Amino acid sequence: MAGAPPPVPPAYRHLPWFYAALSVCFALWLHSGACLGGRALLLWLDGLPGRYKGLALGLSLFLAAMAPWHLYGAAQHWMDRSGNGWWKQYKLSKGRVPDRLSYSAMLPCVLRNQIGLFLPVCLFLCLPAEGGDGGGGRWGVRSKGPPPLAWELCLHMLGLYACYEVVFYCGHRAMHWPCLYKYHKAHHQTYGSVGISGQYASLLDFSLMQFAPVLLGAALLNSHVAPVWLFSILGSLNSIHSHGGYASNAHSLARLRLSTNEWMDG
Ligand SMILES: [Zn+2]
Repeated sequence: MAGAPPPVPPAYRHLPWFYAALSVCFALWLHSGACLGGRALLLWLDGLPGRYKGLALGLSLFLAAMAPWHLYGAAQHWMDRSGNGWWKQYKLSKGRVPDRLSYSAMLPCVLRNQIGLFLPVCLFLCLPAEGGDGGGGRWGVRSKGPPPLAWELCLHMLGLYACYEVVFYCGHRAMHWPCLYKYHKAHHQTYGSVGISGQYASLLDFSLMQFAPVLLGAALLNSHVAPVWLFSILGSLNSIHSHGGYASNAHSLARLRLSTNEWMDG
């Protein structure tokens, strides 16, 4: 059996504070007019002609989710492979459950989902509708006007989180219906012991679990693009974090315990 879980690493104990500090830094960046600041970036986006603005906005949504996801995913891959770092003692699957699929075995499926589906969806939703002026004509996400103030950012983050939880929960329950589980099984068979396994999934599973909850929430709230960027960054870090198999939170622990029992039971 799995035995007692290792203690939570000190670095992970402060994770909520890290996310909060990251959000504060993002809010400060958002109102910075320096050449790489958020205000300057939004002004530049607004100044683009319609079709280019849609393309740039769609690409920004894609990159806001993918850049942190791949950076943290690659970092965890390095941690998994490197000799005897201090983090090894916290790897739940070490000596308990072998990695069912390696990083390199999962990467092609993950890239297919991201580039073949998520990128076109981001671009399509942000291209201008017929007669629109670009920047989310089909979808409704806003890039116009000044960046949202701190309280607006908080409200939209809460709204996005509430929508995400509801859509994700319903989608996940649906994927466990017998008629749909065949599209979800591959994700569970990874045992959640490698960070990027969060997006190792069928196209339907990837849509329902990964991006539909965020994009639907943004559409319902007619959200400014800035909170969607921040939500995507935090969500991507959490996706790697909660599928990496480190003693970091209840999600990883529950997954690994379940996987261990499933594996032990044959
Ligand atoms: Zn499931």
